[in-house]
Amino acid sequence: MKNLVYAGVIIVCLALAVFLIFFRGDRDSGIESLSNEEQVLVLCADCEASYEMGKREYYTQLREKAQQVVNPMLTPLLTCRECAKDKVTEAIKCEKCGHIFPKGIVPHDHADRCPKCKFSKIEAVRKERQAR
Ligand SMILES: [Zn+2]
Ligand SMILES: [Zn+2]
Repeated sequence: MKNLVYAGVIIVCLALAVFLIFFRGDRDSGIESLSNEEQVLVLCADCEASYEMGKREYYTQLREKAQQVVNPMLTPLLTCRECAKDKVTEAIKCEKCGHIFPKGIVPHDHADRCPKCKFSKIEAVRKERQAR
């Protein structure tokens, strides 16, 4: 159990490091090179609107929000285009049941674990690789 906690702490630290490099770096690290043709699915926790936005648009907004947040441990939330509240987060649509949920909603599990039917694409792909 202790090892799990340590692993969790390490993962959080790594994620934070990546986050800081990406958003707080002196250079505009690569956001401009992202394409708006690639879509990011997002979900509003308040009005439950879900819609897609361009990847570059998403990270540009995220970077703007990151400069305003008080707690750097939290991923900033974007402004909802439907209800205008800062409640929008990256979302995943479950391949199995079609449920749309915020990425990483199940703690200490794969980020794409569906809270409804428990399917995880990451896990499925890993299992398939091991089976070969
Ligand atoms: Zn909303
Ligand atoms: Zn599902």
